Amino acid sequence: MGQHSKADAECVRVVVRCRPLNEQEKADGRTRIVDMDRKSGQVVLRNSKADATDPPKSFTFDSVFDWESTQKEVYESTAAGIVNSTLEGYNGTIFAYGQTGTGKTHTMEGYAAEPSQQGIIPQSFEHIFSAIEGSSNIQYLVRASFLEIYNEEIRDLLSKSPKDKLELKESRDSGVYVKGLNAFVVKSVPEIRNVLEVGKKNRSVGATLMNQDSSRSHSVFTITIETIEQGPASDGHVRVGKLNLVDLAGSERQSKTGATGDRLKEATKINLSLSALGNVISALVDSKSGHIPYRDSKLTRLLQDSLGGNTKTVMVANVGPADWNYDETLSTLRYANRAK
Ligand code: ADP
Ligand code: MG
Repeated sequence: MGQHSKADAECVRVVVRCRPLNEQEKADGRTRIVDMDRKSGQVVLRNSKADATDPPKSFTFDSVFDWESTQKEVYESTAAGIVNSTLEGYNGTIFAYGQTGTGKTHTMEGYAAEPSQQGIIPQSFEHIFSAIEGSSNIQYLVRASFLEIYNEEIRDLLSKSPKDKLELKESRDSGVYVKGLNAFVVKSVPEIRNVLEVGKKNRSVGATLMNQDSSRSHSVFTITIETIEQGPASDGHVRVGKLNLVDLAGSERQSKTGATGDRLKEATKINLSLSALGNVISALVDSKSGHIPYRDSKLTRLLQDSLGGNTKTVMVANVGPADWNYDETLSTLRYANRAK
């Protein structure tokens, strides 16, 4: 048996979320070609193209969330368990995957000012700090960092010079880490929200400065929680849990966008890193697979200690409901199906 035991399979979950038809799609007379059954986790995709003869395609996932699902439901069933285990000293990762415009950022961030519209990241802030307030005999230290990976280059979204490229390093004590990455100590929900806001602002300013499209980068918001038990019964042992919240680059294929030159080169790297991630996740799920190809991309190397082993991973694959997205939706469902 390899480094990863069979139990790991249960530690990787793949769920699918489908957003509602938007106003534009309705105005354009687009129809919904996705059916979902929340009870069985089944998704059925119908090809409604005029020349289509293929039968509907059916997939089954750990959970599915249809266009009526709320941010709270998605949080409770995908993120809450991982956040609890992070509070207990384990690592965990939540990914949002999908074509641009399908709801990755809605799922991860949502709209922070409106409680019912908050995505996984702001809900995790509330969850973590209310757990901390509710515990009396444990001391906590919470840190937040925020980076993006664009074109296989890592940038610190909390840095004063966000154009600087940072390097991945490896040491025996700390494993794989990003050299020079800021990690701010945060003591409350408003403080950690502020970190998120600063990083988001830097991300869009940086993207403009460098003529980048942020749908082509992966963003990784990491919350590190150190705990130490207080009192005479404590062994003085510090536990460290890490939660990675990842809004992945858009998965759309480039034939559709007509990219050339530098843009095409970028696109190739995005596709490489998304397929490297898919390979790592499917190797983790496949209990017979001994070798996990973490080294094939910056993202998987960076997250190596938070994917597999004692960690929990959820991939939320986002799709749009409309007929014009048939090819991309099928490709996302296939990717997600392979990852589970
Ligand atoms: P992505 O990050 O994948 O490019 P976004 O999260 O920006 O996509 O979503 C695109 C648009 O669709 C946004 O206006 C967003 O508010 C809306 N949207 C996405 N998912 C949902 C949903 N489940 N319910 C309502 N609106 C949604
Ligand atoms: Mg987005």
